[in-house]
Amino acid sequence: MHIPNHTFHNDVEIPAIGLGVWKAEQGSEVQQAIAWALEAGYRSIDTAAIYGNEQGVGKALQASEIPRDEIFVTSKLWNEDMRKGRAEAAFEETMQKLQLEVLDLYLIHWPVEGHFVKAWQALETLYEAGKVRAIGVSNFMPEHLETLLKTARIKPMINQIEHHPYLQQRKTVDFCRQHQIVVEAWSPLMQGNLNQETMITELAEKYHKSPAQVILRWAIQKDLVVIPKSTNEGRIQENFAIFDFELSSGDLDRLDALERNQRFGPDPYTFGF
Ligand code: NDP
Repeated sequence: MHIPNHTFHNDVEIPAIGLGVWKAEQGSEVQQAIAWALEAGYRSIDTAAIYGNEQGVGKALQASEIPRDEIFVTSKLWNEDMRKGRAEAAFEETMQKLQLEVLDLYLIHWPVEGHFVKAWQALETLYEAGKVRAIGVSNFMPEHLETLLKTARIKPMINQIEHHPYLQQRKTVDFCRQHQIVVEAWSPLMQGNLNQETMITELAEKYHKSPAQVILRWAIQKDLVVIPKSTNEGRIQENFAIFDFELSSGDLDRLDALERNQRFGPDPYTFGF
């Protein structure tokens, strides 16, 4: 099955779907989830230092026979490391745990005020040294991006934000698109709260797909990268089986109309960690 890619402004490509591993426990849980995902056809994994499972991700990559350059690996710089000005050291720790020579994508995890501009300079240096193929941000609102762009030598290639039918962040998405920044959706499955919305269930019946497949497909058709998390083999496969159907433009509009500015995760303006 052909899985679409998105191309960053530096021509590096990221698969349109990846496996998210937040809350996948270090050890057999995360390793097994990745093995199932790679078998199902996923070629992208999204982790972070704070998830505490980079070592498990590294082991799963080692255990796979898929060539390293066919798997896209993302990790993120944690807030405390930014505050302490130890981006380079944190990156080296990540790379050691992942057992990788080069990372595909490294992100600033949250826009920590007073620190993210300096952290970005460190990411630029890592990029220029060839240690990471692409650099980006996460949870950046237009105001944060504007601040960053004032001094950035390299524009972020991606912004990973909470995005699902209840929180579509149109202003941020538009801003990113104007600046050739790819948008990636975290919690694309609303953290599993899928069955609350009858309309999603109705669409699932109409397309003979599951509610999860309908909302992932909606995000794909809106040109977002998605990183659904699951540690269940059946759901890992289900979330990947979204490239054999297409939602009509009328149904995309119906899903768009579910917007209600409801977050399941923290607010980038008020997060306290
Ligand atoms: P998701 O929206 O991906 O939802 C995950 C939840 O949905 C889990 O409880 C999972 O349970 C369940 N689930 C998965 N597939 C299905 C399905 N087909 N049907 C019903 N339920 C399902 O939430 P996340 O918050 O985990 O977001 C995804 C990824 O995004 C994270 O893993 C992480 O990589 C990234 N992320 C990034 C953040 C950031 O600040 N940059 C913040 C939050 C997430 P089960 O495992 O049992 O299947």
